[in-house]
Amino acid sequence: MKLVFEKGHEGRKMEIIAPLDVSEAGLGESFKRAAKPKLPQMSETEISRHYTELAKRTHGVNDGFYPLGSCTMKYNPKVNEAAAALPGFVKAHPLQPEETCQGSLEVLNLAEKYLCEITGMDAMTFQPAAGAHGEFTGLLLIKAWHVHRGDTKRKKIIVPDSAHGTNPASASMCGYEVVSIPSREDGCVDLEKLKAAVGDDTAGLMLTNPNTVGLFDKNILEITRIVREAGGLCYYDGANLNAVMGIARPGDMGFDVVHLNLHKTFSTPHGGGGPGSGPVGCKAFLAPYLPGARAVKEEREGKTCYRFEKPEESIGDVKMFYGNFLVVVKALAYILTLGREGIPEAAANAVLNANYMKTKLSDVYEMAYPGPCMHEFVMTLEGLKKKAGVTAMDIAKSMLDYGIHPPTMYFPLIVHEALMVEPTETEPRDTLDQAVEALHEIYKKAVEEPESLHGAPYKTPIGRPDEVTAARKPVVRYHWEEHAD
Ligand SMILES: *Cc1c(COP(=O)(O)O)cnc(C)c1O
Repeated sequence: MKLVFEKGHEGRKMEIIAPLDVSEAGLGESFKRAAKPKLPQMSETEISRHYTELAKRTHGVNDGFYPLGSCTMKYNPKVNEAAAALPGFVKAHPLQPEETCQGSLEVLNLAEKYLCEITGMDAMTFQPAAGAHGEFTGLLLIKAWHVHRGDTKRKKIIVPDSAHGTNPASASMCGYEVVSIPSREDGCVDLEKLKAAVGDDTAGLMLTNPNTVGLFDKNILEITRIVREAGGLCYYDGANLNAVMGIARPGDMGFDVVHLNLHKTFSTPHGGGGPGSGPVGCKAFLAPYLPGARAVKEEREGKTCYRFEKPEESIGDVKMFYGNFLVVVKALAYILTLGREGIPEAAANAVLNANYMKTKLSDVYEMAYPGPCMHEFVMTLEGLKKKAGVTAMDIAKSMLDYGIHPPTMYFPLIVHEALMVEPTETEPRDTLDQAVEALHEIYKKAVEEPESLHGAPYKTPIGRPDEVTAARKPVVRYHWEEHAD
């Protein structure tokens, strides 16, 4: 496919700017370019075709199955985008007087109320813009609490090795020393190792649950008890909350702080560089340290109204104003649409779909951890690699020929030749059956004609790009000179 620059023709253009009908203001010479910018010149139809052609070459949820793991929901209802696009929200200015944007404050107040109810927390901030940003913020709350009590020797954060990679990174960004503890064979936290690791220098524990291998730690109550008895606080990485939302609450399991990824669980697409939101919820004793301002509800002259309130001992801002507000609007629209019945139903379907696929694939594919999973499961292709020389990468690439987006590859790191599959809650059984059938066919090929898989995919616009070069030396700019003819 030609680039837009190669498609253009001198003089072929459309007039999109109306002719000047006022006197020209003029820019100072120093502000002007010496030469006109080199832009492709095309007609409207050509441009429209160009971008349609590009769109056809990508694979998204609207094209087919998308079982990428550690990403949770891919169902981002369009109606929620419409809600977030309402002029009253889009045109609000963050410095507008409170009386003039009561609706936006109500959104923040309601979203906080419902998300606190879902997580079992007492207060929440919407300032953090991503999951990892939420972790950083949550740890700052923990730190502020210890420091406030004068307990300054607590310098360690315990992170099991089944945690998301951002957990140890955030802890170390906060100036903490990270103590990693290995998981047991069954993928759960090793309680003996945990007991040995805690002490009067433990600031807290960060637990990803369900963990990165898709399991709900069955000893979770014991885990939080051990940490609390040592005087530490417990942090719950709730980025993948859609396996448990409406069913189990971190706040009831002994956790003091939790972050959510609204751009994974509550109706905003994850990835692609769009705005995200990683709200942090906490128990009441940590609420005074929250960043930003919370929208609180009050009665004034018999009328319900909202105002912003800054927490007294606030750690300060972690982002401007109220975070990515429109993402919160979408989350609230999603929660209100699903309601008390729909939220746990979405979670149950996510778990059901994952277990359905896991069971159907277990005849030939080796699972990293046997038994039921939560919303995702991890296969290991180590055996197949030894037997037939076919890697997780080969299997993932072959899936593209079946119109399926590959699952997450080579993650989590604690599983070799990992493929992490997350079917998500909205896929009907037919789609899951087709995917299972495709994976069975691929497995058969892997055993019978392994060489054929090394070259896959065959049906996509490009085969196997050089991923290292693409990552290390990306070409993100068109150089006219090099292409001059
Ligand atoms: C995605 C994810 C994160 C990080 O979220 P970002 O928004 O990408 O920073 C943290 N923890 C878990 C378990 C995740 O799945």
